[in-house]
Amino acid sequence: MAAYDFNDKIVSIPDYPQPGVIFKDITTLLRDAEGFQRAVDELSNHFINQGITKVVGAEARGFIIAAPVAYKLNAGLVPMRKPGKLPREVYSQEYGLEYGSDELQVHTDAITKDDRVLLVDDLIATGGTAVAQAKLLSKFGATLVGMAFLMELDYLNPRKVVREATDCDIFSLV
Ligand code: IMP
Repeated sequence: MAAYDFNDKIVSIPDYPQPGVIFKDITTLLRDAEGFQRAVDELSNHFINQGITKVVGAEARGFIIAAPVAYKLNAGLVPMRKPGKLPREVYSQEYGLEYGSDELQVHTDAITKDDRVLLVDDLIATGGTAVAQAKLLSKFGATLVGMAFLMELDYLNPRKVVREATDCDIFSLV
């Protein structure tokens, strides 16, 4: 199959959501039927046959990619959500963002120590969200097999901070 330029489908928006930030709009990739399908296929294929049992996605854009990847890998889907959204007992983790700070929560019974977990998100920028997710996962004692992203902003060097938390396989399409 011919190579596909994912980067070409992602639009850079200067000074959004605040001056000095270049926001990568992935909705232009998602709306492209071929691009969305190829993106989900490539992320899934990279982690196929690795015994992934749970795919974790962070609210909100993470859900969009994590759900079809979980389906393709025959794995369960675990949402990590903003505070106050999950109805039962949760673990919580605060984290810094490229712009501001936030908190993620996950149900305490969502994952077991025997799970082999893949984290999926649309984009990794500073790595703060991914590290917060890895910290939440460590509470379960599960194996973090990898992290998959549509896009990695390598000029922010997110792998440096992620590597301090985990040595799992990090795979980005762009
Ligand atoms: P990080 O924690 O700095 O790595 O930021 C990653 C998280 O913020 C992901 O959940 C992304 O959805 C979101 N994010 C940060 N920057 C962008 C962007 O330029 N485009 C889309 N999402 C972004």
